[in-house]
Amino acid sequence: MGQAHFSHALKVDPHICFGCSRCMVSCPTEAIRIKKGKAVIYEDRCVDCGECYRSCPVHAIYIKQDDFEKIHMFSHKIALVPHVFFGQFPSQFTQNDIKNAILGAGFTDVVEVEQSVPFLIEQINKYVKKHAEDKPIISSFCPAIVRLIQVKFPSLTSNILLLKPPLDITAYNTRKRLVDQGIDNSDIGLFYITPCAAKIAAIKSPVGEEESQIDGVINMDTLFNRTFTYLSNNKNKMEINREYSKLNFRSRRWPLTEGESKYIKGNNFAIDGIHNVIDFLEKIEDDEVPGVDYLELRACIESCVGGVLLTTNKFLIAERIKNNNDEPEVIKVQNFIHDKEYLESHIAVNKVEPRNIMSLDDNIEKAMQKLTTISDLMKILPQTDCSACGAPNCNALANDIANNESTIEQCIFIQKNMEAENKLKPEESYEILSDIWGKNKFSKYKNLKK
Ligand code: SF4
Ligand code: SF4
Repeated sequence: MGQAHFSHALKVDPHICFGCSRCMVSCPTEAIRIKKGKAVIYEDRCVDCGECYRSCPVHAIYIKQDDFEKIHMFSHKIALVPHVFFGQFPSQFTQNDIKNAILGAGFTDVVEVEQSVPFLIEQINKYVKKHAEDKPIISSFCPAIVRLIQVKFPSLTSNILLLKPPLDITAYNTRKRLVDQGIDNSDIGLFYITPCAAKIAAIKSPVGEEESQIDGVINMDTLFNRTFTYLSNNKNKMEINREYSKLNFRSRRWPLTEGESKYIKGNNFAIDGIHNVIDFLEKIEDDEVPGVDYLELRACIESCVGGVLLTTNKFLIAERIKNNNDEPEVIKVQNFIHDKEYLESHIAVNKVEPRNIMSLDDNIEKAMQKLTTISDLMKILPQTDCSACGAPNCNALANDIANNESTIEQCIFIQKNMEAENKLKPEESYEILSDIWGKNKFSKYKNLKK
């Protein structure tokens, strides 16, 4: 495939991968192939949804994060923590305890990402009213969904909400507040504690923005382990004891399914799980669901509590968050906002462009030729989608052949036929298959008796 357009956090460790192909089969954008017995991610097709990470039985797929020690490059080390983080801890620990334990792990302050939610809800409602002609407006909250639309539903990119998500607004607000207090900008380090790979990718190569305000990303499981250790070591008395205010109900619910759609006026849908989202977007593209104002779409089942980097069962965390009946002194929009004018002038993002990686060629003529090749190949290929060729299905193999990345002999049905017609020697077939699945996959059959 062509070069990568975006950075990705998901990587395959070839020393662990044994080429079982589970990841390839689970990938919703057909971004994985098996080559020389190992999974290979085509980076220009990947949307960082994390489905491959979930499906690998040996944890050969990992999420590359920043080194935790990077926080010490700044005198002001701010942890930007999504609310789902707190739902992972047993109820014996209060949120205040957990925030103090994050300080104990090395940060100098903790800011909850969803602080900006009341401000954002106000802005989204204004936006939806103003952009009636672009309906349905599609939420920009889940970065895997934004990338999915760019890759698989390019005609819907103009429906994406062009406002920053809570993380970016909170980052802008936090940095401005500290700078206005007289702190040098270069001394401020904002670190996001991520529940998933998609957010890392969005920070490292933001869509619709030149650069991110975030200085680093720490995987949520890493901070959970450090925080839990601190809490365990300070069972009787917390060494650090700062008082933090709590989020209101709407802000706490935002990262859950329906946390967003419920508070936007109009006829809204909330869909979670990337395969459900794909099904639904196909219907939207075909105009099968008329009259929708706003779509909350999240790649993970149960939204952010289903992120791959959480350590506790997603349904349990969702219940803990929903059952928390605290309605503290509501953090009013004006309480959160340090400089409303500044935030309003920074909340918009640029138009999201389609990523035409699914299109076959920039040159229309060549693209048409490739399309004809694929259509011709699909008449020959067996349509069994057996994946023995190292591609997820016959159509993906046809695409790869049209892009000169595979050959028709990789299909075992065609191989056998060519052998029968003396167009291919058995040892050549063996070479082709072992090039896909790795030589060691075949060595054990050497002395097999009939
Ligand atoms: S992160 Fe998602 S899109 Fe990317 S390779 Fe894995 S399954 Fe495919
Ligand atoms: S699921 Fe993918 S990465 Fe994991 S062992 Fe199988 S082929 Fe390799």
